[in-house]
Amino acid sequence: MNKKIVFTLLLASLCSLSACGNDDIGSLNDSIIVNEGSLNENNENSSDESLQTTAAGYFVTEVPEATVTVVTDESGNPVTEPVPETPVDENTAPPEEVSAETVPTPSVIDYTPSTAAPGTPASTAVLPADAPTEYDYNYGPAPTVYDIPGIKYIDNVLIANKSYSLPADFYPELDQTCLNQFYKLQNDASAVGLNIYLSSGFRSYETQDYIYNDYVARDGQEKADTYSARPGHSEHQSGLAIDVNQIDDTFIGTPEAIWLEAHCYEYGFILRYSQSKQDITGYKYESWHIRYVGTDMSYKIHSKAIEMGDPYLTLEEYFGIDSYYH
Ligand SMILES: [Zn+2]
Repeated sequence: MNKKIVFTLLLASLCSLSACGNDDIGSLNDSIIVNEGSLNENNENSSDESLQTTAAGYFVTEVPEATVTVVTDESGNPVTEPVPETPVDENTAPPEEVSAETVPTPSVIDYTPSTAAPGTPASTAVLPADAPTEYDYNYGPAPTVYDIPGIKYIDNVLIANKSYSLPADFYPELDQTCLNQFYKLQNDASAVGLNIYLSSGFRSYETQDYIYNDYVARDGQEKADTYSARPGHSEHQSGLAIDVNQIDDTFIGTPEAIWLEAHCYEYGFILRYSQSKQDITGYKYESWHIRYVGTDMSYKIHSKAIEMGDPYLTLEEYFGIDSYYH
C-alpha cells in the first residue's frame, strides 16, 4: 500500500508548525485543503448559547462584539491555537505522509450538465419572500446538476451520505459557485471582525479511501464511521462541501462558529451535520462543515426549520431520507 495523497493548497499555509499540535489534523491544517472533513463529538449545546429566539423564529445570533484575536505568524497568516486531542472529522486530513507525488489523477469523465433535473422533488416548500433574487449580492445559483448514473438528486440537490454514494471516478473539484459564495460569506464575516477561512474543500474518492482506512486502523471501524465517511460517501467528493477554520471540536462555540451557523444560509449553505442529529445524519456534530445548495434551497430549508421549530433541521429530515450503510 503505497497510496499517497496530495492535498490541493488553496491558500497559503495557515498555520505554522507550532500551531498544529494534533497529529492528524496537524498535517491537514498546514495546507488549506480543498478537501474535506468534519465531525466531532457531542457538545450538543455548545454552539447554541448565543442563539436567541425571536417572534420570527430562531437563528438570530448575538455575535460577541468582534473580540476575536487573530494571532499571525511572520507572514501575517493566521495561526490557530494548538489543538487538544480530539477526533478529527468526517473527512479530515490524513496523517503525516502527505506527499506531493501522489496527486490522484482525475478520471476522464464527461461531466455533462443535465438538462432535465433528475430526482424527484421531495419538497413543496415555497421560496421565502426574503430570499435573494439573482440581482442581489447574496444570490447563489443552484449547483450544476450532473447527469451521471449513480448520483442521487432530490429536488436538484445532490445527495451524498451513508445511504447514497458517489461514483468512484466522480472528480468535479470544488464547485466554483460554491467557492464564490464562500468568499462572500467570508467577506461579510470579516466585516464584523470574524475570521472564517477555508480549510478543506474537494476530496477525491482515493483520498477519502486513504483517510478512512487510516482512521479505521487507528480507532476501529465502528468509531471511525461516526466521524469519517467511507470512500464514495463523503460529501467532500461532491465538490460542494467546505470545512472552515479548525476542523475539530475546538471550533465549537467560537464567535466564528456561532456566526457561521446563523448566517451560512444567506449565502446558499447549510450546516450539514447538526448538533443532536447524529442518529439522523450518521455523523457527529460538525460545526465547521457547510454544504452548498444554492440560496433558493438554503432559504427553503431555513424557512422550514423555523416553521418546524427546529433550528437544527437536517437535509435528511427535509427530504425524508435516511443515512446509514445498507
Ligand atoms: Zn467536512
